[in-house]
Amino acid sequence: MKKRYWFISIISVFILGAVFFSLTRKRNNHSTFYGEYMYDSLESSCSYSEKNVFYLDASGILHLIDTDSGKDIIYCDKPNCTHERYSHNNENPSCPAVFYGLCKSGIVVHNGHLYFLGNMTDEDFCTQYLYEMDVNGENRKSVVALPGIENIRYVLYRDNYVIGGYYNRVELNDENQIINENKPEAGIFVIDLENYEFYKGEILTGEQINITDISYENGFVYYSIVRFNDDVTEKVIADATEGDFADFIYNNRMYEIHKYDIKNKEDVLITVIDHVYGLDLIGMDAYYTTKDGYYKFDTASGEKVSLDAVKKTVPEDKAFFSGFKSDGNDLYFRYRDESNECVYCRLKENDVIELMRLPAEKAFGFVCICGTSVYINYNDDEGKFCLGVININDLNSGVYKPMKLRYYNE
Ligand SMILES: [Zn+2]
Repeated sequence: MKKRYWFISIISVFILGAVFFSLTRKRNNHSTFYGEYMYDSLESSCSYSEKNVFYLDASGILHLIDTDSGKDIIYCDKPNCTHERYSHNNENPSCPAVFYGLCKSGIVVHNGHLYFLGNMTDEDFCTQYLYEMDVNGENRKSVVALPGIENIRYVLYRDNYVIGGYYNRVELNDENQIINENKPEAGIFVIDLENYEFYKGEILTGEQINITDISYENGFVYYSIVRFNDDVTEKVIADATEGDFADFIYNNRMYEIHKYDIKNKEDVLITVIDHVYGLDLIGMDAYYTTKDGYYKFDTASGEKVSLDAVKKTVPEDKAFFSGFKSDGNDLYFRYRDESNECVYCRLKENDVIELMRLPAEKAFGFVCICGTSVYINYNDDEGKFCLGVININDLNSGVYKPMKLRYYNE
């Protein structure tokens, strides 16, 4: 008898402990983060995971959206905080959700820390810093300096690395004065979080050079670069705007696909693709559009595969086509048909499956796909541009019921 009571009370202690643990976890809204974050190709201060969105609002205040419920909170748990933004009257903001500076990028929670890339000093604007904080945003420290970097985009936190793309436009002298306003550079950088070591891939140059995508796979960074060919100067571009500029771009712009070996710090140019409308780097492959059709370039084999099923589906005029997105398995794309309807399709192996059609004013664009969460942008019923989410199973079965997450530009 006695033994049984002991057993029951031990079990009760366990159950109570588990209930208490789950309650405290629920009360602390910073303890539920899932999965890896993906960058936003347009807004560098937004990051997405399957369950969360981090973004900075127009005042530089960090928000966290819970994707399942759509709930948007200011990322600050300080009691009675007014979340006062950075300004000349508030140069040392006490709110942990406040960020500022010219370049704001890479805000995610990774391995038990909140991170931010930017420059919150009033010094040299050609140096950025990695800031590391507790998960709740407190104890902000700058842990790595990134000299020679003006603008950061496409930041990924993978394994023990922070990987990002950058582009520069000016050259400074030792006194931080601009001595050259047209020195375009672009490339990638890597920070090893184990020892806070920082290094750059090859520094690439070229007229209007920019980085367009990054992916990471087992210690290798794949990235795409766009630039004009070497014959094109600022003056040639200015002259070209008088004529058929779309044709000029098609004939003179090129993409480079690079592979960077983090361990050996080796940057390899895999291929150059020119005469192309657009190119999407997805994982280790590049998907691109030319006057002739749609192609996949496989970086592992160096093979170019024609996506005939896409060509058969989409109207001849490539202006009707808007890019590829992937969930890691299948490829999604959309196009406008002759009646101005927007058609959404999935490419599964070699088959195109039409998923849904929406009138142009109801159409949405893909932002990114993270697990089952498909982040989209669209105009709501009031015509306001917003971020929303749909479930991938709904998308695959042609059901369009977006949940609004936030308004842009607010
Ligand atoms: Zn606050």
